[in-house]
Amino acid sequence: MRVMVTGGAGFIGSHLIDRLVARGDSVVAFDNLSSGQLEFIQAHIDNGKVTHVQGDVTDFESVLSSMHGIDCVFHLAANPDIRLGTKITDTDLNQGTIATYNIVEAMRRCDVKRIAFASSSVVYGENAPLPTPENHGPCMPISLYGASKQAGEGLISSWVGTFGLQAWIFRFANIIGTRGTHGVIFDFIHKLKADPSRLEVLGNGLQEKSYMEVEDCVDGILHVMEQSNDPLNLYNLGSHDTASVRRIAEIVVEETQCKDASIEYTGGDRGWAGDIPKAMLGIDKMLSTGFDVRFNSEDAIRHTARALIQEIGFKQEMNK
Ligand code: NAD
Repeated sequence: MRVMVTGGAGFIGSHLIDRLVARGDSVVAFDNLSSGQLEFIQAHIDNGKVTHVQGDVTDFESVLSSMHGIDCVFHLAANPDIRLGTKITDTDLNQGTIATYNIVEAMRRCDVKRIAFASSSVVYGENAPLPTPENHGPCMPISLYGASKQAGEGLISSWVGTFGLQAWIFRFANIIGTRGTHGVIFDFIHKLKADPSRLEVLGNGLQEKSYMEVEDCVDGILHVMEQSNDPLNLYNLGSHDTASVRRIAEIVVEETQCKDASIEYTGGDRGWAGDIPKAMLGIDKMLSTGFDVRFNSEDAIRHTARALIQEIGFKQEMNK
């Protein structure tokens, strides 16, 4: 199969490409490298399994010219920084909503029928029951990022209903693991690298969310796509439990061996405006396909902290 992965040089996209190449697909990684890194997929490019297109999903002509001959699109390119919406209000509109329109419209024109979309738990908003099942509604996101994910879901669903697309929409929990370039664990390690004596934590530390290891995430995507075949397939992807930000801070302090670091909370029930303090996805539908995660939240956090400490070069720096 010839597939396109938008955001293919990113954190989740590059792990997905590892799996797609392993199963024998030929891959076009469409990525503007704004937050992705070519080195994550360089080995596949060198052996001819992956072609990188330096393109922007907000540029319709560029998307269209890359779409010919594709069997399935994995649409992952997006602004990954939820907080950015508190300062710049059109990033998610352009890189989420408009970009998703460009993808499905280019698919329609090139007769490409299958799409998988990286959506998020944040579409549920903050008053959803926990754990939140896929059939919860109405969904009322409270961040601009969440609004763009919901708009993307709506566009895809309408292209399914109107133009015969087949779609898999995945609402991810917090995805963590190697090659992570953003998120709470990444931020904490960088803060401790800059100042090993203190760790500033946004909010009161009681924010509680579920975390999923990135290899579990990409395995889950491919498993669910093999096991479900409706015109529109909607799945939460997450783990069985949650972890608090306080616990994450403790784990990162332990793993960086900054034993004397004082953990300082900025206060308030959330990290920033639009953050959802408590989130946990219902995963019964995912489990019903026969897929289960290898890591729960705390194991995934510790595993990720160890991996990112190596990747960031934290210990080498400290031991100089
Ligand atoms: P990431 O930043 O590592 O990956 C995004 C990739 O898209 C990067 O390689 C970036 O260079 C590329 N990109 C961004 N804007 C682009 C544009 N305009 N044109 C072309 N390429 C562009 O982030 P990630 O964590 O791997 O996220 C992948 C997807 O999963 C995103 O859609 C994100 O919203 C979604 N998601 C992630 C999480 C998470 O916890 N990481 C949770 C829910 C949903």
